[in-house]
Amino acid sequence: MVGGGIGGLTAAAALRLRGWDVIVCERAASLDPVGSGLSLGPNALRALDAIGVGQAARGLAAIDGVSGIRRYDGRWLVRADVTAPMLKKYDDLAVIALRSELVDLLLSRLPEDTVRTSTAVSAVEPETGTVTTSEGALEADLVVAADGVHSGIRKALFPDHPGALYSGSTTWRFIIPEPGHGFRTTESWGHGDVFGIMPLSGKRIYCYASAVASAGQTFEDERAELLRRFGWWHAPIPDLIDAAEPGEILHNDVYWIAEPLPAYHVGRVAFLGDAVHAMSPNLGQGACQAIEDAVVLASLADQPDGLARYTAARLPRTRMVVQNSHRVSRMVGLRSPWATRLRDTLMWGVGRLGSAAVIRQTAPIFEWSPPRLSIR
Ligand SMILES: Cc1cc2nc3c(=O)[nH]c(=O)nc-3n(C[C@H](O)[C@H](O)[C@H](O)COP(=O)(O)OP(=O)(O)OC[C@H]3O[C@@H](n4cnc5c(N)ncnc54)[C@H](O)[C@@H]3O)c2cc1C
Repeated sequence: MVGGGIGGLTAAAALRLRGWDVIVCERAASLDPVGSGLSLGPNALRALDAIGVGQAARGLAAIDGVSGIRRYDGRWLVRADVTAPMLKKYDDLAVIALRSELVDLLLSRLPEDTVRTSTAVSAVEPETGTVTTSEGALEADLVVAADGVHSGIRKALFPDHPGALYSGSTTWRFIIPEPGHGFRTTESWGHGDVFGIMPLSGKRIYCYASAVASAGQTFEDERAELLRRFGWWHAPIPDLIDAAEPGEILHNDVYWIAEPLPAYHVGRVAFLGDAVHAMSPNLGQGACQAIEDAVVLASLADQPDGLARYTAARLPRTRMVVQNSHRVSRMVGLRSPWATRLRDTLMWGVGRLGSAAVIRQTAPIFEWSPPRLSIR
């Protein structure tokens, strides 16, 4: 396994269940995960069920009650109680967890010596499975490239692919203690800017923001930049930003894979997660799709033509999710006043159709079931 992100760790847990001996090479010195929240849809929760951590993940937190989309001035565009229709349609809710909590759950399924930190992979030989790492060479029957959006293995094995492109949006994330009661999951839209609020378990709030901006900008004081952009938006957004620790605000540009790879495997190498289908975060599905990949890969990797079947199963589905995410990213990134007014009116119309209609929009993504993982 190359990469100890959520994709790599899920694949390690799933392959272990199927009887593989697994080593995870992670170039970072520790698995201290990015300090942020993560939404897990019912599709990802079912995949986590397949490796025995679904119930524990559901226990981390859940969206319930009213959630929706607002305008920057606070007017509701979509306001829906999604609990009943979600339970009716999926027998499940989406979960908002801390990344670190999910990482801990996945690690709990692995023997202690599985993850080798400070171990960077510099080359992979797809025909033989030889992996060159900073700590020496390894021989593998299967190499899983879960090395993220700027995957070096993807660049080496698909040299003609244009790679990940800047989406045009930059994002901020931070977690604060809940400053009161009654916080709901909401996303507020402005003219190209977005601010999201997600309550977490343990009286904490996960906030995220995105803005249309040129790539590579950093700010000496990220909180001051957030206040400049969102400090005049509806309550409680300015107060939430005020409560953030400036040094703990994550700021990342968003890259995505616009042109699909021709395959998700080469020889003994299988790719998963952001390495092959990085997407904008607007549907909250990047990690969910990596989790789906991991379980499907584990179900097929030891079968005849297993990796070709893996590509056939995963490429069309993840492509659909990448494209849907990109469409939403473009919609929320609209900046001109007339276009945002039209968009907001359309969203308001969708909201008037009721929560069941809102839930129906999610069906192509959430209505997915993992293969059965027969345990070895
Ligand atoms: C603002 C934002 C919000 C998001 N919100 C959500 C959400 O709510 N729900 C959701 O499902 N997704 C969300 N995502 C997407 C999600 O974070 C990613 O899709 C997911 O983390 C990808 O996991 P991965 O394991 O494929 O890659 P990564 O998490 O990038 O892991 C790759 C790992 O490989 C390691 N690595 C790289 N190269 C090497 C090498 N040569 N040798 C060894 N190790 C190497 C890296 O250090 C890293 O640990 C969000 C993304 C952003 C930017």
